[in-house]
Amino acid sequence: MKLVYQDVPTPNINDDEVLVRVRAVGICGSDVHGMDGSTGRRLPPIIMGHEASGVIEATGKKVEGWQTGDRVTFDSTIYRQDDWYTQQGMYNLSDGRMVLGVSTPEFKKHGAFAEYVTVPQHILYRIPEGVSFTQAALVEPAAVALHAIKLSAITPDDVVVVIGAGMVGMFVIQLLKITGCKKIIAIDLEKEKLALAKNLGADACFTPDDNALNTTLLEWTGQRGADVAIEVVGVNATIQHAITLLRKGGTLTLLGNLSPQVNLPLQAVVTRQLRLQGSCAINGEYPAILDLIAKGKLNMEAILSAEAPLAEGADWFQRLYNKEKGLMKVVLHP
Ligand SMILES: [Zn+2]
Repeated sequence: MKLVYQDVPTPNINDDEVLVRVRAVGICGSDVHGMDGSTGRRLPPIIMGHEASGVIEATGKKVEGWQTGDRVTFDSTIYRQDDWYTQQGMYNLSDGRMVLGVSTPEFKKHGAFAEYVTVPQHILYRIPEGVSFTQAALVEPAAVALHAIKLSAITPDDVVVVIGAGMVGMFVIQLLKITGCKKIIAIDLEKEKLALAKNLGADACFTPDDNALNTTLLEWTGQRGADVAIEVVGVNATIQHAITLLRKGGTLTLLGNLSPQVNLPLQAVVTRQLRLQGSCAINGEYPAILDLIAKGKLNMEAILSAEAPLAEGADWFQRLYNKEKGLMKVVLHP
């Protein structure tokens, strides 16, 4: 796919939508992977971008409670309010949901790598005072992390292993610390990432081949193994490793899905009575994250690698695609 920076018409809003002048928009890993067509979810032409913030410029006829000038961020998912799942409190699983800046054979919704984006009012969140547009654009990945933690049903005595200290993994670690769990162990291939993970709250950090990992884990858990493992990569090696680190009856929360399919050690899962819990996107975690940022409890800057004008976006996409070392999150400003 070729990225072009060009003029496009200002989009029209439906009655239930607002027009947002975008002030900050993060480049997501799914945009970078999607760019080469491999995921089939960025069918061109499409304006990508689903981690964003801005100011309301215009409101549709039926919009209530929102005004021009309001500082907002929004969910990456556009869900139907009359859907069965939404009504059960699981809008992230609703049928026919669309993701901003994604195009598949089923839907296409232009996203926020643009001056303007249109979003329905029911996915808007107000940005609290003291929270910057850049911070608000980073709420989405933090909310993804919090959703996985909520599904993991962690208790304060739990020892939790986080596999994959990338950007979302860093939020998982910070949020585990804030929500309270006894010990957090971070695992990653890169030592630099582990150093950051340590700064952000991990009690111990290891590369996967480090023998000290098992020694420490067993020592901290009465020789049992981790109560919970949160897997933020999603390939054979990391998932199988996660399963070996869990105690009997432990929970494996699956957040990463780099490989669409992996080999599962079925017997270990069954005989050790493990719980496998998938975690998809976000289900109402935005206000909690915005509140934590406003209170200064969540370090958003730690994962922010660069900020640049939208015009330079294509270069940054390429650098992220090339997996340039040390690059985590890049935020663009239209
Ligand atoms: Zn994303």
